[in-house]
Amino acid sequence: MSEDFSKELKEQLLISPKKKINFVSPEDIEKADEFCEPYKDFLNKSRTEREAVTEAVTMAKENGFREYNPDKVYQPGDKIYIVNRNKAVGLAVIGKYGTSKGVMLSIAHIDSPRIDLKPNPLYEKEGMALFKTHYYGGIKKYQWTTIPLSLHGRVCKIDGSYVDIAIGDDDNDPCFCITDILPHLAQEQVKKKLGEAFTGEDLNCLVGSRPYCDEDGEQVRLNTMKLINDKYGITEQDFLSAELTLVPSFKARDVGFDRSMIGSYGHDDRVCAYPALMAIIDSGVPEKTCITYLADKEETGSDGNTGMQSDFLRYFIYDLAKSDGQEGYRVLSMSKCLSADVNAAVDPTYDSCFEAKNSSYINEGVVISKYTGARGKNSTSDASAEYMGEIRTMLENNGITWQVGELGRVDLGGGGTIAKYVANMNVDVVDLGVPVLSMHAPFEIVSKVDVYMAYLAFLHFFIG
Ligand code: MN
Ligand code: MN
Repeated sequence: MSEDFSKELKEQLLISPKKKINFVSPEDIEKADEFCEPYKDFLNKSRTEREAVTEAVTMAKENGFREYNPDKVYQPGDKIYIVNRNKAVGLAVIGKYGTSKGVMLSIAHIDSPRIDLKPNPLYEKEGMALFKTHYYGGIKKYQWTTIPLSLHGRVCKIDGSYVDIAIGDDDNDPCFCITDILPHLAQEQVKKKLGEAFTGEDLNCLVGSRPYCDEDGEQVRLNTMKLINDKYGITEQDFLSAELTLVPSFKARDVGFDRSMIGSYGHDDRVCAYPALMAIIDSGVPEKTCITYLADKEETGSDGNTGMQSDFLRYFIYDLAKSDGQEGYRVLSMSKCLSADVNAAVDPTYDSCFEAKNSSYINEGVVISKYTGARGKNSTSDASAEYMGEIRTMLENNGITWQVGELGRVDLGGGGTIAKYVANMNVDVVDLGVPVLSMHAPFEIVSKVDVYMAYLAFLHFFIG
């Protein structure tokens, strides 16, 4: 056998080990950089699912989308949106075939791990005012101490009105902080296992330290509440009917001398939500009706009426089907979905957590995960070979850089996505998303090229 023949055969039969970024054209890299500038704005404006919904609706309206009216008959090219309880949103573009051949779904989630306030949060200790918290989603607790935090959310008052709070992001705002013990006095702490050294009840957030007056009895708590009341018109009891959350204060920033990456809070899963949003906006008049749905509650298991286990999206599709004279369940049975969520990119410092040939890498494009789950693929929908083939063809035909990826080494851990809830509606679905470094940390990192490739994947999935 000649060396040349072996080389030729290798090219024909084996997957090339060359870095895929080398095949991304300079034009596409430039487009990726451009695409990510407004993405950073989206991240900065969308610190919670509510804010992401507001931002998505603003963008939708600017691009000709109108609020869905179930009594209206829609025509191909019509653009509509529907909001679920201010925390999830669907955007649809009616296709030439309406719903008669099924719908094309891109679904991502817009909730991110964070620190929620308890219903009765405010207390005073050692002359300081603090908030009790209950963390939301899977976090490494120590990462959330000693960083500036902002407070976001909604408080509903007894008279039925509400007030939205967003304080800490602006450089002129005050911020808040969960403290940690100094190394000098950490001898006991550092001997503990990482998972035990920081407990949920330790995540108390410092919010004030000056007393209202020199009288006895919780004057710092009183002063803090007075300042909150002055600004927002709420009393301590109003915390009971509120959703308030602490998120990192820092803004999205370019990372690296080459500015090839973006560091930010909340990439998981706004890094898929934003491209899916842009794809539906740019989908023109598609063949089949296309829907981008941005869900809440993924980080806590997708339960609840704004999570993917809710019937909200199903009812919306049934309504669209009905106005086309179609049966909802038949429309669902013909539908296809890209379940968009992030995947764990191989971290060079922790590469032993990954199996090199089946993990995703920064700059290698959008990741397809045939299955998720843990301990023997438990709790996964596992896309079929046929559907994987269809999506692979779509990506290849449109020159989209892509890779396959599992979430780390077998039996090391694992995780789930919303794919299975869509699959359970009898829809063909596969996970597709962006690889992330430091997932669920206050500052997660993605590659700009990968974000752009995710956009191209959703766009071509919609427009065929
Ligand atoms: Mn996610
Ligand atoms: Mn997550």
